[in-house]
Amino acid sequence: MKVGILGGGQLGRMLALDGIPLGMTFRFLEPTAGSPSDGLGDVVRAAYDDAHALDRFAEGLDVVTYEFENVPAASTDRLAGRVELHPNPSALAAAQDRVVEKEGFAAVGIPTAPFRPIDSLDGLRAAADELGLPAVLKTRRFGYDGKGQAVLREREHVDQAWEVLAGQPLILEGFVRFRRELSILAVRGRDGACAFYPLTENVHRRGILWTSRAPADGVTDAVQRTAEGYARGVLEAHDYVGVLAIELFDTEDGLLANEMAPRVHNSGHWTLDGADVSQFENHLRAVCGLPLGSTGVTDHAGMVNLIGSVPPVEELLAVAGARVHLYGKSPRPGRKVGHVNVRGPAATVAEAMGALEALALGD
Ligand code: AMP
Repeated sequence: MKVGILGGGQLGRMLALDGIPLGMTFRFLEPTAGSPSDGLGDVVRAAYDDAHALDRFAEGLDVVTYEFENVPAASTDRLAGRVELHPNPSALAAAQDRVVEKEGFAAVGIPTAPFRPIDSLDGLRAAADELGLPAVLKTRRFGYDGKGQAVLREREHVDQAWEVLAGQPLILEGFVRFRRELSILAVRGRDGACAFYPLTENVHRRGILWTSRAPADGVTDAVQRTAEGYARGVLEAHDYVGVLAIELFDTEDGLLANEMAPRVHNSGHWTLDGADVSQFENHLRAVCGLPLGSTGVTDHAGMVNLIGSVPPVEELLAVAGARVHLYGKSPRPGRKVGHVNVRGPAATVAEAMGALEALALGD
């Protein structure tokens, strides 16, 4: 199988690293030279909306998938007529706009924070009255890693946040007092078969995913089944093929969906070393029409992201059981440059993660 991936970042790299042993070959459409996927397949070096480049990219591929959600709709439209494309671009469209995304959740019975689309200061003031403060004002599109958002705690923050974020479509969300953040990673094959990884607990630092551990502590079968039901609802609504991640808030009143990613996801990187079959391999199996692999986990798994810089690799490897994954990216503040996985009994994972977090923070 020759697989095309829109995007050549670390997710594309890890897809290829898991697909090569299955006999797959890869082609990336990636505008930037020196990207993490370089060397793992052929590269069409062009913008994602370059029509001629898209045609060259699609030539001879068995299937196309993507590793980021902001692929322009015109590009997926162009590819759709030429090559098999998974997941369904309708899931991309939903993930690109926080209002469409939340309406989509509601349509399949998934609860979210209350929200209002915002396109004027008067609208924002009225929505702040209705939802109450605190509330979170976010851009509807192109927000990631906590960028393009403001928490409104006091009345005067309403006008201040408008000053900063006005000029683009916005959404105001009720502030969720969550106990913790979880994510569910799901995969659906071309034949409609679904599989789910155990709920993962995620901790963010400065708006960026910092650590994940799985299975999340104290998750009952009922909660796991609820999350799986939510994911299945989205998968089936989009006739989705591939891996889907949904980020959830765990609250006193149950799970609320925050957002979804129609692709492999950072909160599933632990599956590389902690699950029977990783999210990357399962995504490829799904989009290539192969049987899905087990999402089972023998013990506990944890992941620590390396953000902004890479500690000396010998120090990371000195932590018992550490499995190091570097992306070959030049370090820059706030940039994800790698991650480290550990696996084993809960206490061993907790201890190793503590050591890795200290190294990653440069303590
Ligand atoms: P997002 O870009 O939507 O993933 O938001 C980034 C982070 O901000 C989330 O992981 C949460 O920690 C926090 N956050 C987002 N939305 C809300 C909300 N409605 N209430 C409370 N915290 C939020």
